[in-house]
Amino acid sequence: MNHDPSRDDSSQPVETILTHGGRHPEYQFGFVNTPVYRGSTVLFKTLADLDAQSQPYLYGRAGNPTTEGVEAVITQLEGAFRTRLVPSGLSAITIALLSCLSNGDEVLISDSAYDPARKFADGFLARMGVSVRYFDPHIGENIGEHISSNTKAILAESPGSLTFEIQDIPAISRVAKSAGVKLIVDNSWASPLYCQPIKLGADLVVHAGTKMFVGHSDAFAGTISATESCWENVETTRAALGFFTSGDDAFLVARGLRTLSIRMKEHQQRAFEIARWLESQPEVESVLHPALPSHPDHALWKRDFSGSGSLFSMLLKTAPRAAVAAFVDNMRLFSMGYSWGGYESLCLPTKPRRTVRPWDHAGNLFRLHIGFEDVEDLKADLDAALIRYGRAR
Ligand SMILES: *Cc1c(COP(=O)(O)O)cnc(C)c1O
Repeated sequence: MNHDPSRDDSSQPVETILTHGGRHPEYQFGFVNTPVYRGSTVLFKTLADLDAQSQPYLYGRAGNPTTEGVEAVITQLEGAFRTRLVPSGLSAITIALLSCLSNGDEVLISDSAYDPARKFADGFLARMGVSVRYFDPHIGENIGEHISSNTKAILAESPGSLTFEIQDIPAISRVAKSAGVKLIVDNSWASPLYCQPIKLGADLVVHAGTKMFVGHSDAFAGTISATESCWENVETTRAALGFFTSGDDAFLVARGLRTLSIRMKEHQQRAFEIARWLESQPEVESVLHPALPSHPDHALWKRDFSGSGSLFSMLLKTAPRAAVAAFVDNMRLFSMGYSWGGYESLCLPTKPRRTVRPWDHAGNLFRLHIGFEDVEDLKADLDAALIRYGRAR
């Protein structure tokens, strides 16, 4: 079959994009997958070629067919103008921010944002002369009260990946647009399958591709998808900083993406079932999962998302640190670790860092990523841990 450029159209069904997007067997001797392109030097045949600079690839740092295959899929899924694959989720956030900000500007960041993004803002951006202000994730259209003539960017993460507040992206975007402020949304939790922030008014969408895209806890990647008016700044910022993702890592992202839809469906169903079950357990104070009707932002989630992810938190009743240890130290299936998005379940005791409104909920917070073990087996593991917790409380 010849390559038909209309196949790259974002109006295609999502599962068809995931299966056929970004790969061109006709250019790869018929092999289904684009192989790992490993290369720095790209050769020019003649001086005329060198002068013309019109070859598809000039130098490996600007990308290769393996990295571009991933970018094409994410662009279609997000309904973006273009996408860049970068080495990590954190670099996606830092490049996106730097593409909007200069000395003297101000950035507004959700109080629920990924903590390393806060560290980047408080350290690096502050040193560059960018002022940083945090806002309540429930601010909605009142974001306008924080916007000054120096405000150039807003970073939102919806839901926040520890505390799971949903942000009113359409309301924030309306105010941002009228003030000429760029809105960046971290969409890692939902993946582009269950939320497309550009359709809700975002200018830039970032992903920790390390999580759901890769899906197997074995590689790092990030993506930045942009609208047409933001694209050039993203690309010049990335190129100036020298960020590039290797063909090997890009291959793992491409491989993960092919099964993203079926993995997300399984994660969604398993995580929701366990979240609902946890709500009725006596040691559990509350479960922070936006798809639960008890969640304070459930209506916003229903309006803006078409599904939910693998990740949620639970707040257990007040207990000493020894009870937290009793919970996590003897788990049979859940393991303790940062990150998420793999096939294996994780449980992480955590304490959100907040500056706008301190995190003052009594009790111990645990973040759970639900993987592909047997659901009843996972419940039994949690049940035993809750009993240990209760005894130590
Ligand atoms: C993990 C994570 C990141 C950072 O991704 P890395 O690939 O680990 O740098 C950013 N945002 C969210 C929501 C994350 O969970």
